[in-house]
Amino acid sequence: MSPRLDVFAVTLLLAGLAPATAEETAGEKLRAAYPGFVDRVEAGDLVLKSGLRVRIDDGRTKSFDERLADPDPDDMFADPYPKGAPVAAPAKDFDPGRYRNAAFFDAIYGDCRKGEVTKALVSVPWVPKWGGGHVKFSSRAGAAEALAAVSKELEAGPAEWKRYLVPSAGTYNCRVIAGTTRVSAHGWGIAIDVNDRASDYWRWSDPSGRKVVFKNRIPAEIAAVFERHGFVWGARWYHYDTMHFEYRPEMLR
Ligand SMILES: [Zn+2]
Repeated sequence: MSPRLDVFAVTLLLAGLAPATAEETAGEKLRAAYPGFVDRVEAGDLVLKSGLRVRIDDGRTKSFDERLADPDPDDMFADPYPKGAPVAAPAKDFDPGRYRNAAFFDAIYGDCRKGEVTKALVSVPWVPKWGGGHVKFSSRAGAAEALAAVSKELEAGPAEWKRYLVPSAGTYNCRVIAGTTRVSAHGWGIAIDVNDRASDYWRWSDPSGRKVVFKNRIPAEIAAVFERHGFVWGARWYHYDTMHFEYRPEMLR
């Protein structure tokens, strides 16, 4: 081996060992999860294939409410998603997957208030064996394929799962999150609510959010199927919403 090649090899090795910054880590997770949309991380920006640049870290130190209202892409990873963990009451304000950078998701799925989301919606069978019919889901970024795979796998599960899954309480819906002005993930066509009569929601426990008492009836085995296909589950949140599953592959990586 020539000395020049040795230097090349050592440089590569050092580059591989250099600790990534939080921005680089967040950017790379998004690039890996949305390869059709994210082109590269450059100078602290996430550069989308459309040319849009989104600042990964806006440099602001945020309270919980501020982060929820206006998260940058880096903030989305503030709480690590506990994939496959036993179901338990989450710690105060631990809401992994509940921070959503609207500019980033609008760029992928469209802004429903401008009529941009519906044209990307496709019909996906929802546990048809159990009479779930079809639901609308975004065809972008692999979301509809992921939901179809979840449905197939759930149908192979025990028949008692039917009562948790059917009827679905809804997928696409261009609406704001209760108590806020932010558009829900349902407005991007990437969320499904399973049967609300078998579900629990933090606002039903305490609308003020000060004395939330965790409650969940959805089997963890159902959630595990969703998580395997890139969905986060609302029962993992302090502000829980146990019927809610949302396609967020970047959180499951
Ligand atoms: Zn929901």
